[in-house]
Amino acid sequence: MMADQAVALITAGASGIGLTCARALSAEGHAVLTLDIDATAVAAFQTEFGEQTAVVCDVSDADQVVAAWGQLIESRGRIDVLINNAGIAGPQQPVEEIDVASWQQTINTDLNSAFYVTRLVIPLMKAQRSGVILNMSSSAGRYGCPLRSPYVAAKWAAIGLAQTWAMELGPWNIRVNALCPGSVGGERIDRVIVRDAAERGVDPEAIRNLYLRQSSLRAFASAEDIAALVCFLVGPGGQMISGQTLGIDGHTESLANWLDA
Ligand code: NAD
Repeated sequence: MMADQAVALITAGASGIGLTCARALSAEGHAVLTLDIDATAVAAFQTEFGEQTAVVCDVSDADQVVAAWGQLIESRGRIDVLINNAGIAGPQQPVEEIDVASWQQTINTDLNSAFYVTRLVIPLMKAQRSGVILNMSSSAGRYGCPLRSPYVAAKWAAIGLAQTWAMELGPWNIRVNALCPGSVGGERIDRVIVRDAAERGVDPEAIRNLYLRQSSLRAFASAEDIAALVCFLVGPGGQMISGQTLGIDGHTESLANWLDA
């Protein structure tokens, strides 16, 4: 890594949208780092980006985040971009049937992790008097989504935190925005569709079509679409964009997902 090379930290960046963002930012000249729970994916990330770029870490656990910070990030001395990307789908159940452990696991992963990591990153960004923080929300964080209560709670909070941190950190030239993908094409949405279909006892194609109809463009965004938006926000075009919630979803019209609606 070059001494003055910009550094981007992406939580849960060893696969999925996070990995696609890491590749795009790397191509634009950033050194990329990740904290990810999956040891196999972390090893692959290290092979692709270098030994000192990734560490196995459950970002829903504040102590693990502090340990990983000391192991991987502190010595870098700077973070230019933070993407609070970690997020699990959580239970898909009526709210009264969700058990407390599933609620807490989803909130810890999708919301609390952003606090655990951001609180460590901010002092570096303040010292640099620059930085970009992107909270990965979801169209569910703007519209609500039946049967996904803890996910929605966390994704709604990601937007509120982006607006609040934009206010707190703007005077240090730190920009904070929330990104709201809709359904993103790829393995994760395939898993969600199969699980949703199994729970409802219907054909997965019916669920896929239901999700596609939620967006005006009748299409899923790709991880590359999201990475392109990230690069725009980090780059010169994004210099005056802060406190915003940016949909990248082909225009979600509704997330009501009742098959008989
Ligand atoms: P994914 O399911 O593909 O997982 C990406 C990575 O998260 C994996 O490498 C996994 O190991 C890691 N991870 C999971 N739990 C972790 C933890 N506790 N600590 C550290 N790493 C952990 O996810 P994705 O589809 O790439 O989604 C990324 C983000 O985008 C999430 O916040 C998600 O809510 C959001 N999002 C995704 C979609 C979609 O359709 N894929 C839509 C809207 C929003």
